[in-house]
Amino acid sequence: MHKRSWVEVDLAQVVQNYRAYAACLAAGSRIMAVVKADAYGHGDVAVAQALAQEGVSLFAVACIDEAIALRRAGIAGEILILGYTPTTALPLCREYDITQSLVSEDYAEAFADAAPAGVKCQFKLDTGMSRIGLPANDPDACEACIRRYAKRLSLTGIFTHLCVADSNQEEDIAFTQTQIARFEALCDRVRDLSLPYLHCMNSAGGVHTNSKYDKIVRLGILLYGLQPSPDIPLPEGVRPALTWKSVVSAMHTIKDGESVGYGRTYRADGTRRIATIPTGYADGYSRLLSNKGRVFIHGKPAPIVGRVCMDQMMVDVTSIPECALYDEVTLIGDSYTADNMASELGTIGYEIVCDIGKRVHRIYKNDNNCLHNKG
Ligand SMILES: *Cc1c(COP(=O)(O)O)cnc(C)c1O
Repeated sequence: MHKRSWVEVDLAQVVQNYRAYAACLAAGSRIMAVVKADAYGHGDVAVAQALAQEGVSLFAVACIDEAIALRRAGIAGEILILGYTPTTALPLCREYDITQSLVSEDYAEAFADAAPAGVKCQFKLDTGMSRIGLPANDPDACEACIRRYAKRLSLTGIFTHLCVADSNQEEDIAFTQTQIARFEALCDRVRDLSLPYLHCMNSAGGVHTNSKYDKIVRLGILLYGLQPSPDIPLPEGVRPALTWKSVVSAMHTIKDGESVGYGRTYRADGTRRIATIPTGYADGYSRLLSNKGRVFIHGKPAPIVGRVCMDQMMVDVTSIPECALYDEVTLIGDSYTADNMASELGTIGYEIVCDIGKRVHRIYKNDNNCLHNKG
C-alpha cells in the first residue's frame, strides 16, 4: 500500500448501520441495499458482500455495468437496475439474471420487442418526482399499462420514489403522504397480479413513514452512516463508515506577504508553516474548498490556503507545531464528516462521497491484507 490518498471503509460499521436501521422498521420489512455509484463511493463489491453475509438478498444499482460487476463478484439474490438501460444491453440482463426497471410506457414497448424471453422487470411509477415512470396521477392509464405488459413480460414488481421524504416541513410531509397514497392505490388495483416486489421507501421514507405496503425499503445513504438531510437525525448507532486520509508530502515556511498556489489567492500575514497534501480535485476533493476548507493533522484543524490544485493542496500548520513530513492527514473523519463538508459547500453528503475519485484506494478495515477495490 503506497500511502498517498486513501479511503478506509469500516464494513462492520456498514453492517451495524444496516442492523440499526432494520431495528427501526416494522416486523416483516425487508431492506434492498442500494449500492449504486460504487456503493456511494464505499466500494460496491465489498459492501454488497458484507451485507450478503448479513442476509441481504435484494440489491439496487443505477446501471447495468454496476449490476454485472456485482454478479461477477458472486453476489446472488435480486439485482434491480433503478434507471434506464439501452435495450441493446437487455441480453446481458438475461445472461446475468438482472431485473430492469421500465421507466416509461415507450420503454416498456421497446423492452418487449428487444428483451429475450424471461428478463425480469419492474414498472416505475411517477408519483410526483417528474423524472421517470408511468404518471400515477392517471391511475386508469397506469393500471391498463401495467396489466398489458404483465401479460407479455416477466413483471416482478412496481415501485416509486419519494422526493421530499427527507424534509419535516408540513407541506412536504403531506406531499410524501400523497405520493404513498398514489402508489398504494395502484398496488391495490393490481393486487390480483400478486407482484412480489412493491416498494416506495428510500432511507428517509423508511424511518418516518408507515405504509401498509411498507415491506421493502431501498436503503442507500443511511447504510453509509450519512444523513438524507439535516432534518433527518441518524438513528441510534448509525455512524459514517468512511474515513478519507492523506499524508504531508512536503513542508515549508513562507514569509510575510508571500503567496501560496495558483492565482496567488492566499498571501501570508506573517511567517507561516505550510504543509502540502497530495490530494486534489482530481481525487474528488472539491476545489470550492479553496481558502475555505480544512484538514485535520494530529486531530487539529489546518485551514486550506490558496486554491486546491488538481492533485495537491496546501494547508497552514503554523498552529500545529508537531506537524511533520509524512504525518497522516484526515480529510473526512469522525470530527469532520462528509455531511459537515457538504454543509460547508452547500451540497449533500451523498455528493461528497460519490465524488471521491477512482485513484483514491479503498481499504477495508476489517480485512487483514488491505484489499484494494480500485487502482
Ligand atoms: C438512490 C435511490 C435510493 C436510495 O436513496 P437514499 O436516500 O440514499 O436512501 C432509493 N431509490 C431510488 C430510486 C434511488 O435512485
